Amino acid sequence: MPTSPFHLRCRICNQPVDWPPPGARCPRPSCRGALQPRRNILFDPTLIEPAELGMWRYRHLLPPLPDNPITLGEGGTPLLPFRNGDLHLFLKNESLNPTGSYKDRGAAMLINSIGAARLVIDDSSGNAGAALAAYAARAGVRARIYTPAAAPASKQAQISRYGAELAAVPGDRSAVTAAAEEAATEPGVFYASHVWHPGYALAMQTLAWEIWEQLGRRAPHWVVLPVGNGSLLRGLRWGFRSLQKGRLIRELPRLVAAQAAACAPLLAYSRGEYQPHTFQAGPTLADGVAIPHPPLIEAMAAAVRKTNGQVIAVPEEEILPAQDALARSGIFIEPTAALAFAALRHLAPAIAPDHTVVAILTGHGYKTL
Ligand SMILES: [Zn+2]
Repeated sequence: MPTSPFHLRCRICNQPVDWPPPGARCPRPSCRGALQPRRNILFDPTLIEPAELGMWRYRHLLPPLPDNPITLGEGGTPLLPFRNGDLHLFLKNESLNPTGSYKDRGAAMLINSIGAARLVIDDSSGNAGAALAAYAARAGVRARIYTPAAAPASKQAQISRYGAELAAVPGDRSAVTAAAEEAATEPGVFYASHVWHPGYALAMQTLAWEIWEQLGRRAPHWVVLPVGNGSLLRGLRWGFRSLQKGRLIRELPRLVAAQAAACAPLLAYSRGEYQPHTFQAGPTLADGVAIPHPPLIEAMAAAVRKTNGQVIAVPEEEILPAQDALARSGIFIEPTAALAFAALRHLAPAIAPDHTVVAILTGHGYKTL
């Protein structure tokens, strides 16, 4: 049986909260802060279940879930050795998840944590919404996804094809969130927020654990990933930290957050230049991380800082060439996912010849056709 790591606490007021939490955020009406594990777990490799499918090999290291969790076979994605000029790296190809993005790990976790709810909702620019729509379909519950009216048509189509109700909201991203938060107060509705619900980032720990196993039970020196709302970034830190606490790795990998230069609030924050009310973002092809005001930006910055990582802003004109370069090598990913690959050129001066580098390819190229 697992150790008992799954108590949560509020990041703001420190209130303890049991798993599964009653809502996505701190239950105190005056607080509404983000929930996180009270402490990182101590990873115990004897708890791995080798016979389980995908990310469920780690089920005893995740928060308690039903005996037969609803799954579409998420996780267990390949880690491909890849040569990029002088740099030898590994590509963690998360585009091969059931709905074409890493969000499936979080959606799988949440759909198994909804209790008696009959309607699940989320606000999403696309991939998180498609993932929740698919897992709701698998579970036989209704889903309603609030998206910006300007979200890519192909992502909206994917959400609809799974049978979810699509609520396209005019206005900016915060109007979309406001519509979802209002609906979340209705009885029988579960707000499966990929931004706020701690289960989402907790599921992303499985990516860290897979990378560790696939490298022969060692940690890379660097992990490069696209960053929008930060669930992947925070989950990777928790996952590697649990390996460190279990004395299975000595040092945490340095987490490198790749953002589009046109919309790089985390870079501005790390320089002390971020003001949420005045921060301006431009349009970007990297629609999956076009998040000018990530609500957990302070926690995201902590994940970079505490791993001695970096934030890299990729110029807009470098995104499509990075996508093309990978496609010409047989790997078709969406522009958002290409940010991690494009960031490598900027990171190169900091990488020593003996360093192991992993870039996470977050979403499939079919997503934006
Ligand atoms: Zn609180």
